[in-house]
Amino acid sequence: MRLSALALAVLPALAPGQGRGAQPAVPQTVILLAPARVWDGTDAPAHEGWVVLVRGERIESLGPKAQITAPAGATTIDLPGTTLIPGMIEGHSHLLLHPYNEAPWDDQVLHEAEALRVARAVNHAKNTLLAGFTTVRDLGSEGAAYADVGLKQAIMQGIIPGPRMIVVTKAIVATGSYGPKGFATEYMDLIPQGAEEADGPDAIARIVRDQIRHGADWIKVYADYRWGPNGQTMPTFTLDELKLMVEVANSSGRPVVAHASTAEGMRRAILAGVRSVEHGNNATAETVQLMKEHGTYFCPTIAVGDSPAKRVIIKSASDAGVPICAGGDAGVFTHGDNAKEAEGLVQAGLTPMQALLSVTAVNARMLQMEDRIGGVRPGMLADLVALNGDPTKDITVIRKVQMVMKGGVVFKR
Ligand SMILES: [Zn+2]
Repeated sequence: MRLSALALAVLPALAPGQGRGAQPAVPQTVILLAPARVWDGTDAPAHEGWVVLVRGERIESLGPKAQITAPAGATTIDLPGTTLIPGMIEGHSHLLLHPYNEAPWDDQVLHEAEALRVARAVNHAKNTLLAGFTTVRDLGSEGAAYADVGLKQAIMQGIIPGPRMIVVTKAIVATGSYGPKGFATEYMDLIPQGAEEADGPDAIARIVRDQIRHGADWIKVYADYRWGPNGQTMPTFTLDELKLMVEVANSSGRPVVAHASTAEGMRRAILAGVRSVEHGNNATAETVQLMKEHGTYFCPTIAVGDSPAKRVIIKSASDAGVPICAGGDAGVFTHGDNAKEAEGLVQAGLTPMQALLSVTAVNARMLQMEDRIGGVRPGMLADLVALNGDPTKDITVIRKVQMVMKGGVVFKR
């Protein structure tokens, strides 16, 4: 007893999810960023002739060039012709996956060792950051256990370049619903799955807590999947099971995100209180209305499922006032091509400004991090991206990345 109490006493206090290994202190360097204009992450047009002063990892001030005085010793970075915007936020990535046309999902889960997948993920993280995405909500390691937690720590500790990561670890599926599937009955019980199975109140409560213990920032659940009698997509968990997941996760301060494509899967997830619904391919007017009533964020992932019907759903949800997350399911397509989702939202009928808000301020609110990221205001983290052109008028400008700063550190120039 005395020994273990002593051992506990000498352990350093850790921030949640941080693990051991301190985040290196950011030097208090002062940098003046001088673009052609600044878009601050609100629905106001970009401010012509503004500059931003960064001290250490935070934004100190911004305003017209004549009103912002850089102290002696400050470094000025001239960014002529560019619009400076908040670092973009990928709402739905899988850094541990690579495109399915390179290797089918089953093969990635069953034939690629975790070390191999992590090695790829290191490159994915770098490419995502250099594309101007300074934060990602990474929605499942897809068979790579808790590798997302380690990747997040490596980025936080400055070991590798990458975006800030919000992770879910393994994600939760109903027994028999997920994959890889299609094996002989004799040994299908032995096939590792791309997410963690949990059923019924005891297992669900325990596994939600266990994923939290391993570092999950959010809990992800598959509220439906392709497991109907003819392989069609059908709901997985009961409403009560989903409610319990949300209750257990929320009581720890963590939100729940639901993969759901069917109207019924969406309905149960929304009623259970999930914070965001992913995909929503078969959303109806009723499910759109339910999302509106419950304040649920909708992450349509049009980048991996564009269709005329999907565009109608997205436009109607946006018009109804449902907050639209920008999350493309990056990993299914190439990491670094994250701009695809915001472009898809514009093709669905959102304005460039609406899509730009989704990929910055709206995603920040979804993550409950709007006091730190998704905007350009004094006191916020200096996650800033300079783009060649004005993205509030043409969304494809978000691909023209001239400079990326994350937490006051320049990663691309
Ligand atoms: Zn996904």
